Amino acid sequence: MKIGETKELICINCPMGCNLTATMTESGLKVTGNTCPRGEKYANEELTHPTRTLTTTLRVNNREGKYVPVKTNGPISKEKLFEAMKVLSEVTVSAPVKTGDVVFASLFGEADVIATGTVD
Ligand code: SF4
Repeated sequence: MKIGETKELICINCPMGCNLTATMTESGLKVTGNTCPRGEKYANEELTHPTRTLTTTLRVNNREGKYVPVKTNGPISKEKLFEAMKVLSEVTVSAPVKTGDVVFASLFGEADVIATGTVD
């Protein structure tokens, strides 16, 4: 962002969804509208290196018609979400699988994909 430039954001860290205004000043990003410090941190990250936790489902290859819910165990770059979904669309898992199992290690070197459900 250039000095004087302003962006409007909605903080997604909690259900309050505070409307944030981020303005670049000579001394750095100034954030207003946040009810707590997490909003300022969110705006800083969103405008420099936006990330998201990815959630999806993977097919269980030895259980007809079964899918297991999964998510990354940490945030990955927002710009890689589409590619990540493409990669994971080709991945299947074998039962039994339980909550917390790593089903795909080191997605782009940013996070592991772990099961959030169990299939016996
Ligand atoms: S700024 Fe704080 S209170 Fe507001 S949405 Fe973000 S986390 Fe919630």
